[in-house]
Formats: sequence, structure tokens, C-alpha cells
Amino acid sequence: MNARTDFDLIVIGGGSGGLAGAFRAAAHGARVAVLEPGELGGTCVNVGCVPKKAMWLAAELSQRIAMAGQLGFDVPETPPAFEWKEFIVHRQRYIAGIHASYRKRLDESGIVWMPCRGQFVDAHTVENSDGARLRGEQVLIATGGRPRRPALPGAELGLVSDDFFNLCSAPKKVAMVGAGYVAVELAGVLQALGSQVELFVRGQRLLADFDHELADDLLENTRQHGIHAHFGYHLAEVQPAGDGHVALISQAGERSEPFESLIFATGRVPSTASLGVEIAGVKLDDAGFVQVDAWQTTSVPHIHAVGDVTDAPALTPVAIAAARRLMDRLYGGKPDSKLDFRDIATVVFSHPPLGRVGLSEQEARAQFGDAVKVFRTRFRPMLHALADSPQRSLFKLVCVGEDERVVGLHLLGEGADEILQGFAVAIRKGITRRDLEDTVAIHPTSAEEVVLLR
Ligand code: NDP
Repeated sequence: MNARTDFDLIVIGGGSGGLAGAFRAAAHGARVAVLEPGELGGTCVNVGCVPKKAMWLAAELSQRIAMAGQLGFDVPETPPAFEWKEFIVHRQRYIAGIHASYRKRLDESGIVWMPCRGQFVDAHTVENSDGARLRGEQVLIATGGRPRRPALPGAELGLVSDDFFNLCSAPKKVAMVGAGYVAVELAGVLQALGSQVELFVRGQRLLADFDHELADDLLENTRQHGIHAHFGYHLAEVQPAGDGHVALISQAGERSEPFESLIFATGRVPSTASLGVEIAGVKLDDAGFVQVDAWQTTSVPHIHAVGDVTDAPALTPVAIAAARRLMDRLYGGKPDSKLDFRDIATVVFSHPPLGRVGLSEQEARAQFGDAVKVFRTRFRPMLHALADSPQRSLFKLVCVGEDERVVGLHLLGEGADEILQGFAVAIRKGITRRDLEDTVAIHPTSAEEVVLLR
């Protein structure tokens, strides 16, 4: 057995949650080791939020170039080609900057980063893939998750979101299976950058967890962009269709046209394999997530978990916030510090973006019945009105009771991604619609529509 090294905290996984926890613990004076065999930053930085947002920005630009042609700019009838490979250079340079900044901060914080996997050999000891054994007073599991590929014949012929980031050009015809965040976002990007995308959805709507009215309007926008959606579609099998193409076979036995690419956007599974959690006594739930209490602590009092390896909302800022609060509790003298999961704002980077904070109308009605009041506005953002584009925005406020306390805000439209954050602060503070009404508008903007809702 190799020499053992002692740490106050061992962090297994160097993604958003793990690194946030490591930095905060080190800032409080803890001696920390981080084990991460892959690129620092995990899913978000390498195969998630960051490269996705870059691709979304490229897609938005391509739509703006087309709109500019409507508005007097001399844009050629055939839109300028998008050099996907050239864009990747910019995207990856941006990501390399994040890696470098993480490495610098790890160094400056005195955190020991080991580019290795970790595996529990007992509840306090983690062995890294080089065979070194580390003893931790506390351990943080932050190993994240990975895309789920459905278990059906031929599924290996499909890609998952990780593979999307290896593409160097837009496949001509793409089948996207799923209707969640990833399906909607990647479908929008691919369609805008030159693919013909078809969505295969087993349910009856996109983004089933979002307010139905906005999700339905988003579907209409998606159609305007040329994406075709098949609802109530149950995939049974994937078959080769020659020339590297694939065909989808439905449970009803129908065979689709050939697609150049098939992408499974069918959710994610937690990464716990080969962690040895059972050796440490850490319990998993039925879906394989690490079970934690409200304090991020597992069934073993000195082992904690944050992020996508738990069943918390799979959002980077949630993992970061949970990790920081945990470290403030363990090392920062704040015994009550824990994340309040209420009213977390989230945005789907569709075209246009869709954001939500708080309860949807459906959730509010289930909870508060007839006490729910809804205010909505549909409008054309100025640029789209000028360009005579059909894109509409839909903003919706969900209130409860006589005093019209705001319990939900839902924004579909240009700028929704940037507008929502400030209102999320206000909603957490318990505002009423009167507070919005008393706020003087910023004109002319889309954001003003929120304070003008009647
Ligand atoms: P989601 O859970 O959002 O959606 C999964 C989709 O796949 C659902 O439509 C689901 O359908 C469908 N599905 C699951 N299994 C099958 C199957 N066997 N056959 C057909 N359809 C199937 O997962 P995503 O992968 O899209 O995203 C994972 C998480 O990552 C999100 O929940 C989100 O928290 C996070 N994320 C956040 C982003 C952001 O903040 N902008 C962007 C991307 C991801 P059904 O509804 O019927 O179960």
C-alpha cells in the first residue's frame, strides 16, 4: 500500500460543484484535494452550458443576419456560410481560458489537484487511480452525470449531447429523440445552423415541466423555424439505412426516412459507477442518485454530495450554491448554512429563450386552486416587428390571493434569458403584483412588459 496523505476535505469530481466546494473550503482554511481525471469544469464547461451557449449565440447570429436583410442591409440572398470549424476554434479558446483560470485558482488556493479517478476503500479513505491513498476528514462526492442512452436495439448508432460538441459541421438531416432542455436547445441550434431537424417526442408537448402555455407557444416558434415535431412517438429500434445513415423504427412498426444523425436527448444518469460508495456505506436512491439530506449530507455523516450526482435540479448554479453553503457550514462557522431550493430561476436556450421562476400556472392551480390569478401579454419585440418576423413573445405572471403575491414568472421571448434574473430576486423577496405596478418601466424594452402586466 502506498503512503497515505491526510486532508481536511477530499473532493471527488472537478466540475462546477466540486470546484466551488473546494475553493470555498480552502478559503476557510481547509486543506483540500480534488480528484478529477478529465478536463476541469465538468459537464458545464466542457460538454454543457458553456459550449452550448456558444453554439446558441452562433445560431442567434445567423437568424439576426437573415433579419438584417429584411431591414435594408445588403445581405446576399443565399445567407453567408457558417464556418463551423472556425467557430469551434473561438469556442474552444474560450473554454481553454476557463481551464487556465481554474488551474491558476487551484494553485493560488493551495488545493492539491490530482488528475485521477477516486474510489472509496473505506469511509474515510479514497484511493486514486495511481494507487495513492488519501484520508479525508470529510469527503465531497461531486461526480456529476452523463447522458442516458435508451436501452433499445441499435441505440449505439445514435449520438448523445457529448458527441454533439465533436461535430464539425451541421448534419443535413437530424432526428432528435426527447423533448427536454437538451432536445429543444440542440434542435434549435442545429436547425439555425443548417440542419433539417425532426423531434421525436414520446409525450404530447415540449418541456413538460414548464408552463404549458409557453411551451405550446415555443412549439409554434420551433415550427416557424422549420423543425418538425412528432408527438406520441415511441421508438422501438434504430437500424442502419446505408451511407452512414440511420432509420428509426416506431413501436407501431413504421420506418422513418434515413437521417444522417440521430441524437438521444433522453435525460441523464448519475455517475457513481466504480466510486465504491457501497464500501463507504453511502446510500443511493432507486434511480442511482446519491441520497442527501437538506444539508447535502449522505447516509454517512462526514460524506456529502452536490450537483447532478444527487437528484437536485441538474443546474450548474444549483451545484455551486449547494457546495458553497455546505463548506460555509463545515468550515466557515455557519452551522445553519444550506441551500434553499425554492424559486430557482432557469432558462432554456431555445429560439427565442424560455425562462421560468417559481410555479407554473398548472402547479399553482394544483396548490392554490381558485386563488390563482394569471396575467399575460403576447407581443412582438421591436426588432421582430420592424423586420416583420412572425416571432412573438409571451410573458406570464402567476399570482395568488387577494394581495396577488407573485408565485411564478414565465418569459418566452427575446431577452428572456437576461431579463429573468432580477425578477427572480424580487420574487424570492415575496413581491406582489402591486410592487411590479409601482415600478416605473424602462421604455422601449421587452422587460417593461413585466411591470406593465394588467
Ligand atoms: P430532461 O429530463 O430535461 O428531458 C428528458 C427528455 O427525454 C424528456 O422529454 C423525456 O420524456 C425524454 N425521454 C426520456 N427517456 C426517453 C426514452 N426512452 N424515449 C424517448 N424519450 C425519452 O433531460 P435533458 O437530457 O434534456 O436535460 C437534463 C438536465 O440537464 C435538465 O433537466 C436540466 O436540469 C439540465 N440542463 C439544463 C440546461 C439549461 O439550464 N439551459 C440545458 C441542458 C440541460 P418524458 O417527459 O416523457 O419523460
